[in-house]
Amino acid sequence: MKQLPFDREKLEQIAAVYPTPFHIYDEEGIKKCVKELYGAFSWNKGFREYFAVKALPNPFILSLLSSLGCGCDCASLPELMLSDASGVNGERIMFSSNDTPLNEYECANALGAVINLDDISHIEMLDRLEHFPKTVCCRYNPGNAFSMTNDIMGHLADSKFGMTKPQLFDAMAILKTRGVKRFGIHSMLVSCAMESEYYPRLAKSLFELALEVKAKTGVTVSFLNLSGGLGIPYYPDQEPINIKAIGNAVKEEYEKTLVPAGMEVDIYTELGRYITGPYGYLVSRVIHKKQIYKNYIGLDACASDLMRPAMYGSYHHITVMGKENMPCDRLYDVTGSLCENNDKFAIDRLLPEVQTGDLVVIHDTGAHGHSMGYNYNGKLRSAELMYHKDGTVTMIRRAEKPSDYFATLDFSPYADKLLK
Ligand SMILES: *Cc1c(COP(=O)(O)O)cnc(C)c1O
Repeated sequence: MKQLPFDREKLEQIAAVYPTPFHIYDEEGIKKCVKELYGAFSWNKGFREYFAVKALPNPFILSLLSSLGCGCDCASLPELMLSDASGVNGERIMFSSNDTPLNEYECANALGAVINLDDISHIEMLDRLEHFPKTVCCRYNPGNAFSMTNDIMGHLADSKFGMTKPQLFDAMAILKTRGVKRFGIHSMLVSCAMESEYYPRLAKSLFELALEVKAKTGVTVSFLNLSGGLGIPYYPDQEPINIKAIGNAVKEEYEKTLVPAGMEVDIYTELGRYITGPYGYLVSRVIHKKQIYKNYIGLDACASDLMRPAMYGSYHHITVMGKENMPCDRLYDVTGSLCENNDKFAIDRLLPEVQTGDLVVIHDTGAHGHSMGYNYNGKLRSAELMYHKDGTVTMIRRAEKPSDYFATLDFSPYADKLLK
């Protein structure tokens, strides 16, 4: 059963002030999740979560997370700017970019961010910076040596990210000659892992790698970044992962591998989906019902607000507000308005009988939801709201207007004609 922090009446009150569609984020849910994560890794003194900004790039969210001890994981210039504007800078920024242009390294270095190198060849880019960074992380790709993969990332030997093991050793040795003082290793191997052994297995392989790096290059690694990739239960019958058990299992590996070698490292994570995913809801209203060869429900939201179903065929649970206890005995395709047949939030979904005007909630849109949106077909992206513990709401991003869609165009030569 999927839970909601509000009922139909409450949501209608909100929708009377902020027209649908909108994403609404449950502040309490996010806070609780972060506290549990920190609790699960409290055995590691230097533990830090660097929230993956791409999952929910909103300064209100980033400063909330910052107040709970999180940093930011960025991969572009605007993400760096957003983090800085949200009060997150210095080594509380992890710059885990790839295929990175020089100006972005310059900005990251000026902010004092930890630079996470995706490739050995990028050391030359760091040579061109004003000061060579004192802290550098290297991203590792084990290729097919790590067997746990799932569909989204595919087979690791086909993954564009990171360096091979020999390259990582070389990179560490070169970085040492450049005066780097603090070294880290990063690896992200899957996306949306529901398997509780993912982090412990990744941690074990990185602990062993840290020992190998020490033996081969003399470099002492100070932190290991397990990155993101922990999953959330999108289906109502799925159990959430047990973060406490995962933290304990990582601790066991730590004690087995690193402690006997007399080595101490800080553990970092770069979770996105796990932190905000379950605590976001896309709220939309049914504006049409259509019956042809199938039954369609037309919403006022579309793939511009949530691309995952169209892009990956992802399941997002749907609740018809006020009809939670009615039997789900009607089969519908739930669609948006794009002129693209993949603009469907659900295909062949059993729901209670839906009427035009019903409010529907699409669950688990708090990560990679609004941020993945786009403006195809001139569709405008929705507002984002924060739902507070006391039931009040803050608009943390307004909805786009046509003028936003036109903002990159210069109409001036044609203005007279167009505006007539
Ligand atoms: C996308 C990404 C993350 C976050 O992934 P989630 O699946 O949301 O946890 C973390 N680190 C890097 C480098 C990423 O690209």
